[in-house]
Amino acid sequence: MSRAITRQVALLLALLLALFTLGCTDTPDADLRITVIDVGQGDATLLSQAGRHMLIDTGSAYAADALLRELEANGVKKLDLLVLTHPHEDHVGNARRLLMELEVETLVVPTDIAVDFGYDLVLATARERCDDLRVVCAGDEIVLGDARCTVLYAQVNAEDWNDASIVLRVEYGETALLFMGDAGAKIEAELLRKMPQLLDCDFLRVGHHGSEDATTGAFLSAATPTLAAVGCGEQNTYGFPHAAVLENLDVMGVRVWRTDLDGTVVFISDGENIRFHSKSKGA
Ligand SMILES: [Zn+2]
Repeated sequence: MSRAITRQVALLLALLLALFTLGCTDTPDADLRITVIDVGQGDATLLSQAGRHMLIDTGSAYAADALLRELEANGVKKLDLLVLTHPHEDHVGNARRLLMELEVETLVVPTDIAVDFGYDLVLATARERCDDLRVVCAGDEIVLGDARCTVLYAQVNAEDWNDASIVLRVEYGETALLFMGDAGAKIEAELLRKMPQLLDCDFLRVGHHGSEDATTGAFLSAATPTLAAVGCGEQNTYGFPHAAVLENLDVMGVRVWRTDLDGTVVFISDGENIRFHSKSKGA
């Protein structure tokens, strides 16, 4: 080979290598990745798209290690959005720690009432460290990369804080996902009355850990998900998920994953379909 040709081949190889490296590091993942994190008895779901991350709930303080491990495994150094559906410990237990240890751009909550000392600390820390603290209500929109999220419900004050829960509809391309927080049958009935078409989804994060005070047959008839996930602890004292809810889901032909049996479960939406990807426990 002449020296000129050798040089050209070397140049071409260097160019190919540069393109390959660029492809590996700079091309963001276009799919929407949904990681239902096993935090024992509690809820935490990570949504990632195009290098942006939104965490919906944080699980209880006792599950901090499991949560942080999962965030690290997903390459999360910054949360664009942290959504706390309502101020109960099994949803906000690690919020302050995340606010202290990670960059959290926007904290999204249903209420800024200091429900208890722990929640008051979360709000105070967010005011110090976040760019934005948003108290949302029905109709508000949140953007995560190419995913559009609509708040279907949120209550600034409630007798039962479960019923303050932010209910979030996430649309990515043709696919729709519904996150119910701990909203009960009363809220489901209100949503059925006001906006049944917005309940229609492909994926359901089952409300209140599969408690029988939520996920009614009427609600599921409007939602018609094909996939669902329940966040609950192994042999939890509440008996979640309740048999009546599993039966309602079964009657509708919904495929259900549970963090107590399946561990952390990952789903992927490519904008046309949403599919189960992997789980950390069980066969
Ligand atoms: Zn809960």
